[in-house]
Amino acid sequence: MVFKKISLQNFRNYTKAEFEFSPSTTIIVGPNAIGKSNLLDAIYLLSTGKSNRTDKDIQLVQFGKEVCRIGGKVSEVLRVSKVSDAPEEETDLEVVFAQSPTGFFQKKYMVNGVSKRRADFQGKMSVVEFSPLDIDIVAGQPGSRRKFLDEVLEQIDIEYRNAHVSYTKAIRQRNALLEQVQKSGIRNEKLFIYWNELVIKNGQIVTAKREEFIEYINNRKKEIFDFTLIYDNSIISEERLLQYKDAEVGAGVTLVGPHRDEVIIKAVSKISKSLEEVKYFGSRGQQRLVSLELKLSQIAIIDEKMENQPLLLLDDVFSELDSSNIDHVLDLMNIYQTIATTTHKEFIGKDSLGQMQMIDLTEQK
Ligand code: ATP
Ligand code: MG
Repeated sequence: MVFKKISLQNFRNYTKAEFEFSPSTTIIVGPNAIGKSNLLDAIYLLSTGKSNRTDKDIQLVQFGKEVCRIGGKVSEVLRVSKVSDAPEEETDLEVVFAQSPTGFFQKKYMVNGVSKRRADFQGKMSVVEFSPLDIDIVAGQPGSRRKFLDEVLEQIDIEYRNAHVSYTKAIRQRNALLEQVQKSGIRNEKLFIYWNELVIKNGQIVTAKREEFIEYINNRKKEIFDFTLIYDNSIISEERLLQYKDAEVGAGVTLVGPHRDEVIIKAVSKISKSLEEVKYFGSRGQQRLVSLELKLSQIAIIDEKMENQPLLLLDDVFSELDSSNIDHVLDLMNIYQTIATTTHKEFIGKDSLGQMQMIDLTEQK
């Protein structure tokens, strides 16, 4: 699969723009605040249907505008051939966000002009994004680690996507119900039966698949830094819901289930010779290496499970890494189609730069 081009309309700081990409490496260069990360986020959105930077889609629509469009073209070479005019199959992807004057917000996902649910839109192209924010997967709150698991599993497994969407919706409804009980003091058990069944069924799928992926990461030979994941999962079952029945009403939210999972990351300390939690004891550099290694696992599993290789999005990673890790990333760039941003092209090194396509955003303005 090759990601060929993108067109943007009223997306963040882009009023109207179009970019074409090299099948190997494209470097997006430009000063701070010119729109480098926004451009990568638009590509991420075409892959996953979601922004990697915000949960609030409305923030993606340019200030003062009502409709925002992101369109992309991916191509598939149908026959393995060295001839450059080998037949290609092209797919058009489009995401539209629209805000009506009454405040109603609408999202639309389209493949070749046909409307899709987000879960069916996703999966046409896989991306793996590397950004300085990745360190949050290791050093941040449990939600950052759950987000990583979701991002990977949603990309490779439609059953996970469906279960996760249903679970999240059902938890929201169940929480609204708990809030009502909290306010009114009246609990209608019948209303809970339906939502309980849904959260248990879908929650258990989510847990099982997260467990499997964590095992995959633990069994994978690490390339740059060794660590172990411990899945501290919040089991959801009829018994557990019963156990937390009163506490839930007090809290007004569902207290058990994969939305409360934690993943603990441990590595061997040279001093204690035992496993210690990287979040608390690891150096900033070690935390960065773990996050880089997690991304390598993401690439590996997409490579294994999906027909297409992932597209790599590298947001400003060169300024953060030391030279041996830059080399590691440059090796990846030789294997996968890559779109990378940087404020200074010097970070990349003259030798590699020659073969790369350059988009200078300052010239576009
Ligand atoms: P840096 O090198 O600092 O990371 P960048 O080139 O990655 O910069 P972006 O994060 O892409 O910059 O942001 C570019 C600009 O987009 C910012 O100035 C920001 O204020 C603007 N912006 C963000 N959201 C919107 C929006 N909804 N409407 C208009 N402009 C927006
Ligand atoms: Mg940026």
